Formats: sequence, C-alpha cells, structure tokens
Amino acid sequence: MTTTSPHALTAPFEQLDAGLRGELITPDHPGYDQARQVYNAMIDRRPAAVARCRDAADVVACVRFARSHDLTLSVRGGGHNAAGLGVLDGALVVDLAPMHSTTVDPVHRTVRVDGGCTWADVDHATVGFGLATPSGFLSSTGVGGLTLGGGIGYLSRRFGLTVDNLLSADVVLADGTFVTADEVSHPDLFWALRGGGGNFGVVTSFVFRCHPIGEQGVVIGGPVLYDFDDTAEVMRWYRELLPSLPEELSGWLGLITVPPAPPFPEHLWGRRACAIVWCYTGPHDVADQVLEPIRGFGSPLVVGLHEMPFTVLQSAFDALYPAGLQWYWRADMFPTISDEAIEVHRRFGAQLPTGHSTMHLYPIDGAAARVAADATAFPYRDGGWAGVIVGVDPDPANAELISAWARDYWTALHPTSAGGAYVNFLMDEGQERVEASYRGNYARLRLVKQRYDPDNALRGNQNIRPATSHV
Ligand SMILES: Cc1cc2nc3c(=O)[nH]c(=O)nc-3n(C[C@H](O)[C@H](O)[C@H](O)COP(=O)(O)OP(=O)(O)OC[C@H]3O[C@@H](n4cnc5c(N)ncnc54)[C@H](O)[C@@H]3O)c2cc1C
Repeated sequence: MTTTSPHALTAPFEQLDAGLRGELITPDHPGYDQARQVYNAMIDRRPAAVARCRDAADVVACVRFARSHDLTLSVRGGGHNAAGLGVLDGALVVDLAPMHSTTVDPVHRTVRVDGGCTWADVDHATVGFGLATPSGFLSSTGVGGLTLGGGIGYLSRRFGLTVDNLLSADVVLADGTFVTADEVSHPDLFWALRGGGGNFGVVTSFVFRCHPIGEQGVVIGGPVLYDFDDTAEVMRWYRELLPSLPEELSGWLGLITVPPAPPFPEHLWGRRACAIVWCYTGPHDVADQVLEPIRGFGSPLVVGLHEMPFTVLQSAFDALYPAGLQWYWRADMFPTISDEAIEVHRRFGAQLPTGHSTMHLYPIDGAAARVAADATAFPYRDGGWAGVIVGVDPDPANAELISAWARDYWTALHPTSAGGAYVNFLMDEGQERVEASYRGNYARLRLVKQRYDPDNALRGNQNIRPATSHV
C-alpha cells in the first residue's frame, strides 16, 4: 500500500497548483512535514504532494491530475485511520480537512456534512438542535473514514450504524466525474459506500438522518469502573444484561489503566480496571429506573454517570488520546463474549504494557442488528461486539513492546471471534483479512468496484479488488 509511483517526482505540480483553490504542499514546502502527519505517529510516509482541497472542484482536479499522470491517489478525511491509509508514499494526497462545513435542517432532521469534517464538527452542529446522528466514541475521528467503514458508536444500539443513517453522498469517482449516490440514484454505489470504505470514490459531502436525543441533546452517561480482579464477573454480567436493557441505553466495555487525571480520584490513578462507559439518551424522568441495574451491580470503584450534553460525552476521551501517539491495532468481531474469551481478556488485560494501552468491546446490537447482512456492505448484523486491542504509547521506543502485546493478545483471542474484523480497525493485514472481514458481501463489492474503479486507482484503503483483477 505504500507504492511510490515513478511519476511522482516528475508530475507538473505547478499546473495542478494553478487550478486549485486550496494549497498544494510539495516536499520543498515548509509545511510539508506537518501536512504528511497522520494521527498514528507510528506511520511516517512521504507523499509526492498534499492537496488541501477547498471544494468538490479541487477534488475533481486532483483526481483527474493523478489519473492523467499515473500518480497514486490517497484520500485523507480526519487522518485517524489505524494503518494511516489517508497518506501513502509517493501519492497525491487529497486532503479534505479544509472542507468542514455542516448544515443542519432541523425541520427534516438531516445534516449535510462536508467530506473533511470530524465528528466534533457534526456533533456541535446537531446537538445545538437537540439532535444527533450515530457516530463513534471519540469526537476527533474523521466523518469520512468512519462512515465509509460502517460507524459504531453510542447511538448504534438505538438508531443503527452511521451508514444506516446515511441518506446520500456526493462522490467524485475515480475517473473524475461527479455523482450523487442514494437509494434511487446509483443504488449499487450507495450500497457499497455503506461499509465498503474509500474504495469507490472521494465523498465530498454526506447527508445523514438525525434523531432527537436526551433532553434537548443532554444525555446521561459516563464511566463505571470496577476493580480489575472483578473483570470476569463484570464481563459475564454485562453480556447477559445488555440485551435486556432498553435501546436508549448502551455501553461499551474496556480494560484500562485509570488515567492520572480528573475526574478520576487520585487514589485510583494508574490502577488497572474494567470499565463500562454508558450513554443513556432517553427521557430523564425514567432514567433512575433504567439505570438501576447498573447502579445496583457489584462494587464499583467509581460510578461516573452524570447529565451532560452529548458533545461532552463524545469528546470525553479526546484529551487522553491526542494525535501523535504510537498505535498498534488488532481487531476482530465477536458473536458473544465467551467464557473462553473472558479468560484471555483477564490474562492479557493484567499485562497492559503502557498506561494508554487498552482493549475495547463495542456492541453492535439493537437497531444495528436489525438490518440485513446484505442490505449494506457492512456484514456483521447478527449481534455481538466489535473488539479492538490497541497498544498505545507516546514513546517510539515502546513501539515493539506495545505491538508484541497486542499481537499476542489477538492471537490468543482470535479463535473465539467471528473470523473477521471491523474494517476500520484493521491495520495493513493483507487481502485475506479484508475478504474475511467483508464475509458474504465481498464478491458483490468486487463487482461494484469493477464498475466504478476498474483500474483500482483508489487503493489506499482496505482494498477491494475489481472483479476482473487477479492481484
Ligand atoms: C482513537 C480512535 C478512535 C476510534 N473510534 C471509533 C469509533 O468509536 N467507532 C468507529 O466506527 N470507528 C472508530 N475508529 C476507527 C475509525 O473509524 C477509522 O480509523 C477511520 O478510518 C477514521 O476515519 P478518518 O477519516 O479519520 O481517517 P483517514 O485516515 O483520514 O482516512 C482513512 C481512509 O478512509 C477513506 N476516506 C476518508 N475520508 C474519505 C472521503 N471523504 N471519501 C472517500 N474516502 C475517504 C480513505 O480510504 C482513507 O484512506 C477510531 C479510530 C481512532 C484512531
């Protein structure tokens, strides 16, 4: 995925620059090193140029230029991708970050979102109207990559995945033409965009359905922390409890080191814990009743459930995980949290190699599981959890330590998985893992890829090979 095109050095970038509204940053530019950075500091790639696109016309110009000069293309939304796929060696990077406008239609409950927005941009815009669309668990993540891979977040249990709330997408295709894809116009493309990643075009704007949440956008949520020694008991309780809860309440589970910062009490800083982070988006007058099974269970170290604007919950972990840390990811989908898996979690959770390293289990249930597996390209609709093991640390000297821990943990856990992963949590793990992760939808995705990008010009992604391609 880091191929350097022989044409990268000779392409007449001054011609491209002259036609762009946004800035074109080549290696001789003082801002080059900053422009090529991605969220994961383990990734260090040197693109031929970074085009900071201001509008769809800039994107069209870049795609046409790259195609006519045989340049690799890569597309950067929020820059959060685990494998750093938004920036490739020798590529022309279509950087969408300057395109970050949003427009809420409170009457029809929709939001139009530019392709370079982060979820902080969207949450800010919608929560002001008491509305939200399902996203993730962190607000600094890009809308582009998260949406195109599926989108799993606090609201998925109640309203489905992000892709289940996508109404239309404006797309610059691999040949530089522009289309709007929705259920009626280019329905095959619209199907593939909902989980198929950045394989099918550059999305310059998305329209999402929004939903009223909480009381005018104020929800009840936050972490409940248990002693690490209680992990097995907590995991078994959580797996049984979740299906019985109303869909207004969702929670993900993590094995963590208590961060050395408020609001966590100082005597817990640095202690291993099993955490569940809850989000309740229903009416507040029945909240005590709904949250009673949570408040009544076990001996929590901290019960941090509070009223807060949804934007606050969404951004609660942003400061703990700023850009520029070393990240090594391994992931799988899990149909259930089996007793066998719990033993593995206890073993490797006890060995978290650094304070930032963690394991999370995100539920894909409720409304997200009522969608048919072939209704969108996202195939995991039979309930269960998206699991992710991340070795994280600020110090590059610990890169091997965190990677080895995550690899060993994953190897031990993989036999309990569904066989594939959420594509947005994959590293550069090879074609077999991509196929395994798309399950029964992979063959159809290849046909759509053949139609919209037969030369595989868009390959800076978890790549879906065009149907006639043998490589
Ligand atoms: C700290 C952290 C927390 C996360 N939490 C969640 C979570 O809660 N839920 C969840 O579902 N995922 C989560 N993710 C995974 C996230 O969805 C992926 O990393 C995703 O790729 C990030 O999107 P991005 O736009 O920031 O990525 P980028 O690195 O900018 O782009 C990744 C790829 O997406 C494609 N792409 C991006 N934008 C566009 C576009 N507009 N048009 C076409 N292609 C595009 C390109 O192929 C690109 O290579 C998290 C990631 C991180 C690092």
